[in-house]
Amino acid sequence: VIEKGLPERSVVTTCAYCGVGCTFKAEMRGEDLIRMVPYKDGKANRGHSCVKGRFAWGYATHRERILNPMLRERITDPWREVSWDEAIGHVAREFRRIQGKYGRVSVGGITSSRCTNEETFLVQKLVRAGFGNNNVDTCARVCHSPTGYGLKTTFGTSAGTQDFDSVEDSDVILVIGANPTDGHPVFGSRMKKRLRQGAQLIVIDPRRIDLVRTPHVQAAHHLPLRPGTNVAVLTALAHVVVTEGLVDEAFVRARCDLDSFQAWADFVAAPQNAPEAVADATGVDPLALRAAARLYATGGNAAIYYGLGVTEHSQGSTTVMAIANLAMATGNIGRKGVGVNPLRGQNNVQGACDMGSFPHEMSGYRHVADDATRAMFEELWGTTLDREPGLRIPNMLDAAVSGSFKGLYIQGEDILQSDPNTAHVAAGLAAMECVVVQDLFLNETANYAHVFLPGSTFLEKDGTFTNAERRIQRVRRVMTPRAGKADWEITLDIAHAMGYAMTYSHPSEIMDEIARVTPTFTGVSYDRLEQLGSIQWPCNEAAPEGTPVMHMQGFVRGQGRFMITEYVPTDERTGPRFPLLLTTGRILSQYNVGAQTRRTENSRWHEEDVLEIHPHDAEQRGVRDGDLVKLQSRAGATTLKATITDRVAPGVVYTTFHHPMTQANVVTTDYSDWATNCPEYKVTAVQVSPSNGP
Ligand code: SF4
Repeated sequence: VIEKGLPERSVVTTCAYCGVGCTFKAEMRGEDLIRMVPYKDGKANRGHSCVKGRFAWGYATHRERILNPMLRERITDPWREVSWDEAIGHVAREFRRIQGKYGRVSVGGITSSRCTNEETFLVQKLVRAGFGNNNVDTCARVCHSPTGYGLKTTFGTSAGTQDFDSVEDSDVILVIGANPTDGHPVFGSRMKKRLRQGAQLIVIDPRRIDLVRTPHVQAAHHLPLRPGTNVAVLTALAHVVVTEGLVDEAFVRARCDLDSFQAWADFVAAPQNAPEAVADATGVDPLALRAAARLYATGGNAAIYYGLGVTEHSQGSTTVMAIANLAMATGNIGRKGVGVNPLRGQNNVQGACDMGSFPHEMSGYRHVADDATRAMFEELWGTTLDREPGLRIPNMLDAAVSGSFKGLYIQGEDILQSDPNTAHVAAGLAAMECVVVQDLFLNETANYAHVFLPGSTFLEKDGTFTNAERRIQRVRRVMTPRAGKADWEITLDIAHAMGYAMTYSHPSEIMDEIARVTPTFTGVSYDRLEQLGSIQWPCNEAAPEGTPVMHMQGFVRGQGRFMITEYVPTDERTGPRFPLLLTTGRILSQYNVGAQTRRTENSRWHEEDVLEIHPHDAEQRGVRDGDLVKLQSRAGATTLKATITDRVAPGVVYTTFHHPMTQANVVTTDYSDWATNCPEYKVTAVQVSPSNGP
């Protein structure tokens, strides 16, 4: 403060890292951001923060920010700086040329979970109304798309059921496939507080995450399952609930579809789903599993929290439905302290999904084939909309390789680094005739781009983010957009140049349109957000103040629907060549592929990704702590440093993916969730061997 001077003003805004959605006061002196102060009235954080939101904002003024639009004819040419007019005009001409030559569906767009609701809404509107197809997808494809599918199928809506406050009423907390103290630190602290007060903890995770044993917190049960066996473990938990008479029959009778319940109960009760029968496959001690099931079913208010360790599997959607089944069968849904709670990774992944970023759904999760929904949008947007669902990201890349998909507009997403099977992504991008990357930095995907449009950070724009508890919060402009335009203005300009006029003078007007066409957002406006501080959707006539806890009187779909969750082992199998299973995760100081956090002081806390390996596996391979090792899978190989630890079980290795040189996705395969194509990042058969060096 002494060096930078005292602040002259402050602006309240929302963190742009994880799905907790902490509120900060950005303290400013002129155009300089002096510090970010956690905001005591922030509904999601109550004055708390983690090292990312508090300190990792320096990337906004990092010297590697690209501040001018750039063009090139071929991806081997050098970049040429151009004016905004030239860049936007080029994009519009190229997309129209491609559509003229290859057809209406030969182009598409990708929205970003890092951008605001208003910005993602505009990109999907550009694709649907401007491009005339439904080829829009979002980075949620690679993280929480199974949450959308699984929760919509069972409960009727694609979102977590509780607010964060709810954890304070939990007696039992079941954490599966999540690492809240690293991935969602402010909520993780709240969870730890509740555990210190006496709530009991069950952790289902291949790795001994910090929560299993930290000062004053000790999990009652840690089930260290073999990666890829979530469904078998959850179905075995359900087997215990059903066969030991622990079902909340009154809840099921009153709230659930009884035919689906009976079919499910018969299925889970079958002997092949008993804990003892699946122990070999899962690696989980049957006695511990039985004890955990009894605790979850009978320990009072029981809440489930989960993360990407649930969704990023070939059975990701099945796992989400297995969690929902368990909550319904035990009556742990529809009040404080219980529920099914996906811990969303990115700041606005919930919002990006809500805003119609999927190729089959308009905002509010209404199918594009629904005539009434389309008619409403057509009238408002003054155009005809396609009733055929569009392409998902992996399908866009497949179509590019086969020659029918030629133009892609990517808003704030580095698909080359974050999507699986890097070689296939590169081949798809290389086969396109116009790739437009709108981002802060020249990311890996930009190596295949023909146009680069400089995006803006959250500090440079107005809008809203929606956090993991469906809480819509304001993002307020702290500084002038350094490249001259905020992201929403770029999309607007492209639409104009393509001949489809959208008219907004401020993001608040985009929100007004969202509220008009989205039943769960009817009561949302910037004025109301100013009055209330934040709003949790659904917010409409039935719930004018918003909805902290969902499904209290009945499920959104009417009656809760049980789904059969048969365990199908992944095709990614270990064998003599690849005998170990790799799984991945995040670390507290870093964020995803590190594009932002690596460009801040936080990088000193995590200089490289390392490979955790069990002492037994290390010894077998002659690997010592700190050695460089080669990590090889069927898809590819990379080199990184080994850390020997018993946090992982024998047969399992683990790494983070924050540094581009690690290239963890070089080794991941292109297996994906059967329902949503979410990649199977969490299970890769690998071999580890000493390396001769990088
Ligand atoms: Fe809060 Fe998440 Fe930002 Fe940390 S990264 S300050 S927990 S929103």
